[in-house]
Amino acid sequence: MKIDFTNKRVTLMGLGLFGGGVGAARFLIRQGASVTVTDLRSEQVLAESVEALKGLPIAFRLGEHREADFREADVVVVSPAVPKESPFLQMAREAGTTVVARDNLIFQWCPAPILGVTGSNGKTTTVSLIGAMFRCIHPETIVGGNIGGSVLDRIEKIHADTPVILELSSFQLEDLQKIGMSPHVAVVTNLSPNHLDRHGTFEEYVRAKKGIIRHQRADDVAILNYDDTTVRAWAEACPGKVVFFSVREPLREGVFVQDGRIVVRLNSTPFVPRRPLRTQRNTQEQKRTSDACKGSALSACSAVRSFQEEAEEICGAEELILPGRHNIENALAATAAAWIGGVGKTEIAGVLRSFEGVAHRLEFVREIQGVRYYNDSIATTPESVIAALDSFEGGIVLIAGGSDKGISFDYLAGEIVRKAKAVILIGTTGSKIAALVKARRGSKALPSVTLRDSLKEAVEQAKTLAQSGDVVLLSPACASYDMFRNFEDRGNRFKALVEKL
Ligand code: ADP
Repeated sequence: MKIDFTNKRVTLMGLGLFGGGVGAARFLIRQGASVTVTDLRSEQVLAESVEALKGLPIAFRLGEHREADFREADVVVVSPAVPKESPFLQMAREAGTTVVARDNLIFQWCPAPILGVTGSNGKTTTVSLIGAMFRCIHPETIVGGNIGGSVLDRIEKIHADTPVILELSSFQLEDLQKIGMSPHVAVVTNLSPNHLDRHGTFEEYVRAKKGIIRHQRADDVAILNYDDTTVRAWAEACPGKVVFFSVREPLREGVFVQDGRIVVRLNSTPFVPRRPLRTQRNTQEQKRTSDACKGSALSACSAVRSFQEEAEEICGAEELILPGRHNIENALAATAAAWIGGVGKTEIAGVLRSFEGVAHRLEFVREIQGVRYYNDSIATTPESVIAALDSFEGGIVLIAGGSDKGISFDYLAGEIVRKAKAVILIGTTGSKIAALVKARRGSKALPSVTLRDSLKEAVEQAKTLAQSGDVVLLSPACASYDMFRNFEDRGNRFKALVEKL
């Protein structure tokens, strides 16, 4: 249920630097609220966000939280980054203040169906691919999450037929449970332990993620990774239609790789998303779809899906510019989402063949004397580093380490020994990873293991270790907050250091 914010005293908890807080503050002002923005980080750290709100009637409480802002407010709007156990939230509830999750407002205010993407890795890449595919036929497509900016800031521009593609974290999905909602189309890339510092156990983390399908309805769709056993098992719990994707095996129905080609085969009973994502399939495809619907109880269905006996070929898996098998998985997930949303195969193939990736995700920086430098600063989990290590054939000099999220590096250490010729470690987790790699390496000489105090020293060291044909890869397996403002800051500094070499 929508809250009427008119003339309400609203405290927005958590401003941040990614635009979500700024967008929410603007939205609340437009809704007629009297807004106080509070964040434990200082005005200096948050300068960019404060500047973006300049001129608006907002009271700022930065570098601290004040009890009164929580006890005396009518509503507290909470950023997904705020820990659930914050005593200030407790205080607000005790005082009878309504506490709402910031991003739940998107689901409550959005007049269009929402396509949500979650998973431990690949969310942003998949969301970007889906966004690019939908934009081919709907230039007004809204993309939100890590990239694309605040959706709340643009909520009034969304109409019933605007495609809305959202990246959803475990924290946002946990919040979404409180209002009993799930996206109409849910995409799950994969699941591996992540954010255990906040979720406690892997089971709790998976439970939070499962919110993406929990409140779906019979006419909603879940697009699931068949190759991930945890994700595959969710099919049984899905209230709606399940569409699998798989890199490993041809499926009776789904989106998969066959003889090196990405193909779509969806030949089951037609389904109609409750509020379909509008579509403009070409005439032939529309005819096929309407034939499929003829005589069925769903005769009112629009051309949002196409079910065919034969597999429909999209393009060759090797035609993707994006490196690595993991990106083929992302491509399959995106293809499934775009296909059921009515994007034609020519458009889907066009995006797959031209999409160069998102900054900080295996981003090619520069080649110096035959050594290629890649920025994978976004890689904050062991799985994403393993995916990066698997993406290259030659020798790899890996730069890793950062702040501790409570994840185990045991398996990663083994993979580093298997794939890298050298590893240079920085940050809080540096010595932990170094010890594990050395233990796994045993009496072998490689990979060499070095600890460095700064990214600058690490990059300089990498240059001395790498030879022509090698790759220098920043793929930290950890968050960045011990040494940098965020992963973007880390990636940008890496790129700047490489440019200077
Ligand atoms: P997320 O938004 O889930 O963090 P990104 O698309 O930003 O995912 O990619 C984050 C990191 O994970 C990058 O290092 C990327 O190379 C790696 N990655 C991307 N897709 C996958 C995948 N499907 N499986 C494993 N790792 C992946």
